[in-house]
Amino acid sequence: MEQQEMGKPAKPKAKKDVGPGRSIDTYAAQCEKCHKWRVIDGQDEYEDIRSKMLEDPFNCQKKQGLSCEEPADIDYDSSRTWVIDKPGVPKTPKGFKRSLVLRKDYSKMDTYYITPTGKKLRSRNEIAAFVEAYPEFNNAPLGDFNFTVPKVMEDTLPPDPRLASPFATSTSTSARSSLTQTQD
Ligand SMILES: [Zn+2]
Repeated sequence: MEQQEMGKPAKPKAKKDVGPGRSIDTYAAQCEKCHKWRVIDGQDEYEDIRSKMLEDPFNCQKKQGLSCEEPADIDYDSSRTWVIDKPGVPKTPKGFKRSLVLRKDYSKMDTYYITPTGKKLRSRNEIAAFVEAYPEFNNAPLGDFNFTVPKVMEDTLPPDPRLASPFATSTSTSARSSLTQTQD
């Protein structure tokens, strides 16, 4: 007996060991004042913070109603695998989506862009060729496509990646140096 479940979002794949790798499920930014981690709602807001991080560092007050007195949203520890982003990576051009995938062996991340037409582009050359073929998208400056990948933090890797159960990756706009300070 099959019941129609209209309007429900598709269930995430339950199968193990399929799919190309793991993608990010939590975004976080570190407060420059108290060094607590704040969860950022969604890629768009996160990219916005990351792009301005150098000129306009993140702090708790930027999250509505929050102050440095509030407990951290999330702790930097090995209960999830963290990857640390470079600050200043430009926001993804409108219409495109930037995707980060962690390799199954946790060795590194790969980044690619999905075009408004659904095509996957993996390098600056592919982007240039796409924009040339579809001039309607050439308002996106080439310099805004950035293939810099976040650093996978080795101290948060699961002991044995093959046995890794529920997995979460976080990205932070914080520089790595401030991370070391949080571990005392
Ligand atoms: Zn703070």
